[in-house]
Amino acid sequence: MTIRVWDYLAEYEAEREDVLDAVETVFRSGQLVLGESVRRFEEEFAGRHGTAHCVGVDNGTNAVKLGLQALGVGPGDEVITVSNTAAPTVVAIDAVGATPVFVDVREDDFLMDTDQVEAAITERTRCLLPVHLYGQCVDMAPLRALADEYDLRLLEDCAQAHGARHHGALAGTMGDAAAFSFYPTKVLGAYGDGGAITTPHDDVERNLRRLRYYGMEERYYVVETPGHNSRLDEVHAEILRRKLRRLDDYVAARREVARRYAEGLADTGLELPRVAEGNEHVYYVYVVRHPRRDEIIERLKGYDIHLNISYPWPVHTMSGFAHLGVPAGSLPVTEDLAGRIFSLPMYASLTPDLQDKVISAVREVLRTL
Ligand SMILES: *Cc1c(COP(=O)(O)O)cnc(C)c1O
Repeated sequence: MTIRVWDYLAEYEAEREDVLDAVETVFRSGQLVLGESVRRFEEEFAGRHGTAHCVGVDNGTNAVKLGLQALGVGPGDEVITVSNTAAPTVVAIDAVGATPVFVDVREDDFLMDTDQVEAAITERTRCLLPVHLYGQCVDMAPLRALADEYDLRLLEDCAQAHGARHHGALAGTMGDAAAFSFYPTKVLGAYGDGGAITTPHDDVERNLRRLRYYGMEERYYVVETPGHNSRLDEVHAEILRRKLRRLDDYVAARREVARRYAEGLADTGLELPRVAEGNEHVYYVYVVRHPRRDEIIERLKGYDIHLNISYPWPVHTMSGFAHLGVPAGSLPVTEDLAGRIFSLPMYASLTPDLQDKVISAVREVLRTL
């Protein structure tokens, strides 16, 4: 039996009645777009985060895009982020006409190296965009201090960090706005695309509601500034409402999978994820590092175990971003990582039985490397 790096079918089997009831609830509600389910999901998601506002949108990429626009970021502005991220973080910066500026990541946890940010600030810098990568948070205190000192906005990319905490604070509560994705693989995933932005600021929330609705106030059909159609779908909102109640269980299950990997792979020479000080990791992906990564992946194919690489190509090396002119070699940790990391199967419903197969296969491959 193939073991996939991510799989939702066991979870669906367990939650099927609730998911189908959510669909039925929406179909019978009489309002298929921007109805009660979106409204209640937004209220509940904001409530869970103890933040003033949540605005549901159609996906995580547009959550970053609308988040930037709502914070006033646009053409000519620079946004400081990392190249070791999912491409959509950077695609969203490009989509608002701004220029991404990359800093390197740290050698031990692969997160934004906040010590490099101040040197990257220019006259045109408008926003800092830390990515809470793989399920743990970037060190936010130095970013907040820089944002205050240089009058910059701070947008968190929380697509991989639902439920993660940093010195006790939830991801999504530490910036001027935070972008979430509910793509199915995420720690909180819909049965299709979805996203949201949280913000403590009333004016940012107003901007977001217009931006996702053509640029209009809802029920006031005048476009002041042209926006988009980026609404969160009612069906996904209702499914997400139900799943939000189980988010702590999903996180606990992922932590248990991570604990079993750490125990089972402790003495193998594989470098396991390190949790930065003050962080509570949610293990969106379980990223390990080994100098002979490609051989390991090749050999594991014989065991019918799928692996992933997050991410094999740093964004600044992609042809679509060649115009940025970031030379190869300028982000040495990011570039080195890309050739050495890979991800083991990780999802909340991964059974101990399947996980043991992964652990013993990895152990055998490493023993005979
Ligand atoms: C998944 C992801 C996104 C994009 O989310 P979509 O819902 O797929 O558009 C953005 N940033 C990061 C870090 C992600 O992992």
